[in-house]
Amino acid sequence: MKPHLGHDKLGLDTLAIHAGQPPDPTSGAVMTPIVLSSTFAQERPGHHKGFEYSRSGNPTRKALEECIAALEGGRHGFAFGSGSAATATLLHTLRPGDHVLSGDDVYGGTFRLFDKVMRPMGLASTSVDMSDLDVVREALTPATRMIWIETPTNPMLKIFDIAGLAEIARAHGALLVVDNTFATPVLQRPLDLGAHVVAHSSTKYLNGHSDVVSGALVTSEDALAERVGFLQNAIGAVPSPFDCYLVLRGIKTLGVRVRQQCASAALIAGRLAGHPAVQAVHYPGLPTHAGHALAARQMRAPGAMISFVVRGGLPVASRFLERLAIFACAESLGGVESLAEHPALMTHASVPAAAREALGIADGLLRLSVGLEATEDLWNDVAQALDGAQGRAAGA
Ligand SMILES: *Cc1c(COP(=O)(O)O)cnc(C)c1O
Repeated sequence: MKPHLGHDKLGLDTLAIHAGQPPDPTSGAVMTPIVLSSTFAQERPGHHKGFEYSRSGNPTRKALEECIAALEGGRHGFAFGSGSAATATLLHTLRPGDHVLSGDDVYGGTFRLFDKVMRPMGLASTSVDMSDLDVVREALTPATRMIWIETPTNPMLKIFDIAGLAEIARAHGALLVVDNTFATPVLQRPLDLGAHVVAHSSTKYLNGHSDVVSGALVTSEDALAERVGFLQNAIGAVPSPFDCYLVLRGIKTLGVRVRQQCASAALIAGRLAGHPAVQAVHYPGLPTHAGHALAARQMRAPGAMISFVVRGGLPVASRFLERLAIFACAESLGGVESLAEHPALMTHASVPAAAREALGIADGLLRLSVGLEATEDLWNDVAQALDGAQGRAAGA
């Protein structure tokens, strides 16, 4: 992209294809080269072209970092070997005695980092339902340095008020971190709403093809970015140039993918809500969803993740997953292929039963990641699996 085209004037679909990815100056290659070199020649000691060693910086990674930063509307982007590596690196900006306040159904691996990795190192954390801002205010302690949220949450797809939480964080002298994995910058840009940092598991929608594990952080806070850049190099949880290339390639179609996936998800969620075998549907696009109005305000579309409860509990949920023919029964989300899973047995199995119940993760709860297959094929697959699961369970 020519320098005179300012990022702030361009749409996300343009930035996804061009930001950080000018034609290669040495060859004119239109696609960003994969620079595998671990080290870079210096003209004389200390004089180089911006790269010394690929842990501290790599041209393919730099292209990806600039692209993700542009999509999120932030000044600084950092890529990591996984979403968890991004989270762990960001938590290393804190000090023993600091406190993190998190949402009550953050990604299990994020909770595990808070609880099993950072806590023994002297970093405290508590979690609350962030739907009620007064509850959040009361849960702050003088040591709270970070508020950590996901919205929509996983798997209940609760919606939290990013602007409201950013204001609370700012007033307290804390940072608001938004894990934007589920929404993607196509649907919401937390930095525009006042958040200080955006975190991603690029493994999911950003890459979008279920063939890379990767992560990212974006911020416009210059001092924090300097520290994160230092830690990215010092801790070294960086992605390979090849993985950076794959994520960059995936991002080029992020807008069209997410918009189509949202359209299919909205249709499927609506039909699920009217299906007699279904007890409840959690989808922010439905008027019955508690976060519907907030989602309409803060997101461009309600996303492509759906969770719902089947009547008949575990046996029916289990049969449903077995009978699906197009949806694969698998963890993860955000790829071109549709996936279905059982949170209580799969992604959230490590959450104690009592806590699962408190969160609403029932034994009949199922989660769908709606992919890019033909919408009617997806609905027909869900409908036949529902009918079959109910029928066999009733007859059993
Ligand atoms: C998958 C996921 C992560 C962790 O990312 P990895 O790339 O698997 O390490 C963090 N947050 C959310 C919301 C996720 O879905």
